[in-house]
Amino acid sequence: MKLFTIGPVMMHERTFKVKQKQITHFRTKEFSDITYRCADSLKKMIGTSNTSKVFFMTCSGTGAMEASVINALEVTDKALVIDGGVYGDRFEKICTAYKIPNDSIKLKVHEELTERHFENFEDKGYTALLVNLHETSVGQLYDINILSKFAKRNNLLLIVDAISTFVCDEYYMDKWGIDITIISSQKGLAIDPGLGIVITNKKTYEERILNTYVTSLYFDLKAYASYMEKGQTPFTPAVEIMYELDDMLIYIKEKGIKNIIKENKEKAEVFREAIKDLPITYPKTKMSNALTPLYFNKGVDAYKIYRNLKKRGMLVNFDTSDIDSRLIRVSHIGNTSIEDMSQIVKEIKEIIK
Ligand SMILES: *Cc1c(COP(=O)(O)O)cnc(C)c1O
Repeated sequence: MKLFTIGPVMMHERTFKVKQKQITHFRTKEFSDITYRCADSLKKMIGTSNTSKVFFMTCSGTGAMEASVINALEVTDKALVIDGGVYGDRFEKICTAYKIPNDSIKLKVHEELTERHFENFEDKGYTALLVNLHETSVGQLYDINILSKFAKRNNLLLIVDAISTFVCDEYYMDKWGIDITIISSQKGLAIDPGLGIVITNKKTYEERILNTYVTSLYFDLKAYASYMEKGQTPFTPAVEIMYELDDMLIYIKEKGIKNIIKENKEKAEVFREAIKDLPITYPKTKMSNALTPLYFNKGVDAYKIYRNLKKRGMLVNFDTSDIDSRLIRVSHIGNTSIEDMSQIVKEIKEIIK
């Protein structure tokens, strides 16, 4: 089965080689070396200062979102969330679950986030801006300049979920004034799911993370911070995925992250060119290289396309949660080729015929 899903994605051969080996115990120097190496590489690749802090957690991306929110914000804060789909909504739910006051800028499907959306939110006492830079449920890649400028003007903590952005699209944490970046293992990094990563700049670490009262034991980053000084984690880490990450970061470094992003971009472009005459509504918003959403026009059975693609050995995302079930999403990341992108469009056309 070839995965055109947004995560997990097709893995590279070298990752399978890593998976074959016996892992070590995590209270060892060998494991600490891996952790340090991964943290250093990640900081460089994500464009943040070496003084920033990296936290490795055994959880999916949502766990890392939750940890970020509850370690940076308290009930005295007031968060503004960009809600353009499933993941924006998740940020709101996290805030609400922990009684952190929050409001949202709610976007309709295919509605592009613009400066105008922020007009009513200036000087309203917000303390943080929470955004999923690529809202993966609809494919929109928000304009970071608008977000950064608003956060700066209003002196807000800028928390960015870059889970489907990192290694997919360009990302410069410090240059863009981002205080906390959230990533996970199963998307652009193309390794196993189960590793959530939070990266905070020094200022946020010192002013917020170290001083926030956290109503969670497992997700209290203060413990992760003190263990990280020894290159370790307070609880058993996903040792196996750390091996995969270590290997993947070496690969990305050798190849150059820009080149990998460029390849993903090329795959996305080839795919988007090929789908032009499909019976779909094409989003007018700026899109991530990570995936293309296909909103089929009325009368086209997206579920049938999903089922038949699967029979032909190609798995895409079909969202049963989507109200009228006309959406499938095709990813362009991980170990797939340009030819794969042309091939899947060919198959879709045959199925529709
Ligand atoms: C995939 C994804 C997540 C995390 O989902 P998990 O299933 O918890 O790993 C969060 N935010 C975005 C933008 C994503 O694409």
